[in-house]
Amino acid sequence: MSRLADLRERHPDDGPRKPPVAEPFYLPTGDEVALFEECHRNQLAVMLKGPTGCGKTRFMEHMAWRLQRPLITVSCHDDLSASDLIGRYLIRHDSVHWQDGPLTTAVRQGAICYLDEIVEARQDTIVVLHSLTDHRRTLTIDKTGEVLEAAPGFQMVISYNPGYQRMLKDLKPSTRQRFVALDFDFPAPGHEASIVQHEGGIGRAEAETLVALAAKLRGFQDRGLAEAPSTRLLVATASLMARGIDTRRACQVALVSPLTDDAGLLEAMNDLLDLTF
Ligand code: ADP
Repeated sequence: MSRLADLRERHPDDGPRKPPVAEPFYLPTGDEVALFEECHRNQLAVMLKGPTGCGKTRFMEHMAWRLQRPLITVSCHDDLSASDLIGRYLIRHDSVHWQDGPLTTAVRQGAICYLDEIVEARQDTIVVLHSLTDHRRTLTIDKTGEVLEAAPGFQMVISYNPGYQRMLKDLKPSTRQRFVALDFDFPAPGHEASIVQHEGGIGRAEAETLVALAAKLRGFQDRGLAEAPSTRLLVATASLMARGIDTRRACQVALVSPLTDDAGLLEAMNDLLDLTF
């Protein structure tokens, strides 16, 4: 063990993480709940593939509650380093303390570690996951000289949006073949209306109108719209409507305008709003 490791002292943030207490609302769209439970039981790493805002994060919150495991979520970005995940020495006053990163905390505590939008992370960061996602289930902490064996409940879960920046960013085959892939998409209309109704706090008829409108707006992808309006945007629109904002105005600010800055597309989508309301 290195000399610095002797100084190892847990930071208060490293305290035990708890599973979610209340059940996060999640409406299943297929067999994803049963499949995930089996993956967890078999200590298999899982990748959730699907467009942004279609329920991947909510699914994880729900599964952590169902499996009674703590959930540690990291939103990935292109600056995320291996140290951000694993941990680092911090100098406080005149002493040096080791602080576990979120991945190390999850490994020690048997938590589910959810790396959201993994393709945003640099390749040298992603590589640290490899020994955790095969039979070894170990994490090597070079800076302390430790090799940690993952606690039994530990599970690695990543998410990514296959449509987004497809040509620029992708997972390497050596990474993807370590994961079971669960495909997500926007829920079927009846399901999506139930979600929007529940989450947004609006009536059934209003929720169905919003979902029908979303189906038409999603068609704009053929005309150059980069990202389809998500269930998340529908929920945001519904919650404005529930607070008394006029439906057309709520759709304009929460459903249409966030999608693009392209004047032509915005005009065409606003015309669709005029026809709908
Ligand atoms: P993602 O992680 O895929 O970007 P989220 O999980 O954050 O998306 O989903 C966005 C919002 O959509 C959630 O906060 C929730 O309100 C709603 N949502 C989407 N799908 C579902 C679902 N199947 N059950 C319940 N809520 C859902």
